[in-house]
Amino acid sequence: MSGSGATLWKFGSFAVVMALLTTCLFFIFGGYRSGPANGYSAVFKDTSQLKDGDTVRVAGVRVGTVDSVTLRSDNTVLVRFGADRLTALPDFMDLFREAEERVQAHHPRLRAEAIGYVEVWDDAERLGAEEVKLNACLGAARDGLGGIDLLVRPYDATEDPELWGTAYRWAERAASAGLGLTVHVGEFATTSIAAALRTPGLRRIGHGTHIADEPHLLDDLARSGVTLECSLTCNVVLGSAPTYEDHPIRKFVRHGIPVTLATDLPVHVCTTIGREYAIASILGFSTDDLRTCTRNAVAASFTTSTRRAALLDDLRRSAHK
Ligand SMILES: [Zn+2]
Repeated sequence: MSGSGATLWKFGSFAVVMALLTTCLFFIFGGYRSGPANGYSAVFKDTSQLKDGDTVRVAGVRVGTVDSVTLRSDNTVLVRFGADRLTALPDFMDLFREAEERVQAHHPRLRAEAIGYVEVWDDAERLGAEEVKLNACLGAARDGLGGIDLLVRPYDATEDPELWGTAYRWAERAASAGLGLTVHVGEFATTSIAAALRTPGLRRIGHGTHIADEPHLLDDLARSGVTLECSLTCNVVLGSAPTYEDHPIRKFVRHGIPVTLATDLPVHVCTTIGREYAIASILGFSTDDLRTCTRNAVAASFTTSTRRAALLDDLRRSAHK
């Protein structure tokens, strides 16, 4: 890899990560409880004095309580526990910046922004729990939360004006709190795409793979100026695209749609942002094309104008090395 290629790779690995890694972190650090608990059970050989009512922790954060501990005939122990539905810790942004600093100790040029993930459900109880999460995001905007990622259920399968009406109202609330907005849509079907493109303040679409199925959707997206977050590995692993070769990413670029490379679920689908850039390179993206993806990611990032300008400047300088 040449010097400028190496710089680009390093740059890509921190610039694009802004949008996606952060959603996962939101949940890792989520722990402020609301709504009913979900029941889980597990069998252990040794429960070391575990008893009813004990706290269940994941990575040090309280996520629920032990409901019952039962000794089984084979001397193993069945533990049932309730995990509270996670929303958001009030001090989430402090934890996020602390995490960013820890990563910067090893990767000084990394810059990350957090986004919250909110779903719209056709179910009053779930919708209520999601609205609590939305309100937590609106509050966290004051502490630097960058945006929200909206997903309307049934995922990719509804044009229901009432559900999308809720999504539009929530999007407007997010925009007036200064939050950026991305919508997860078009991963497995075309049904919800037109409704998603009408979301007020929409700046990015997550996946959108099936937008390529319909020429009028491609035209609508190109006209909207909305940026598309392409997650090549995630799309192939989950069946959104049949193969890397068949992924419509090159079609999007040819259509003048600003495209970024992203990971979506890096742990689940076993990838890194560097690997996504390497795959795009194998698919025929030149170094300049990859740099354009990074520039698109920075331009569409949910960050401060100062931070965005500094990143774009950094990118310009790396292009001339
Ligand atoms: Zn996704």
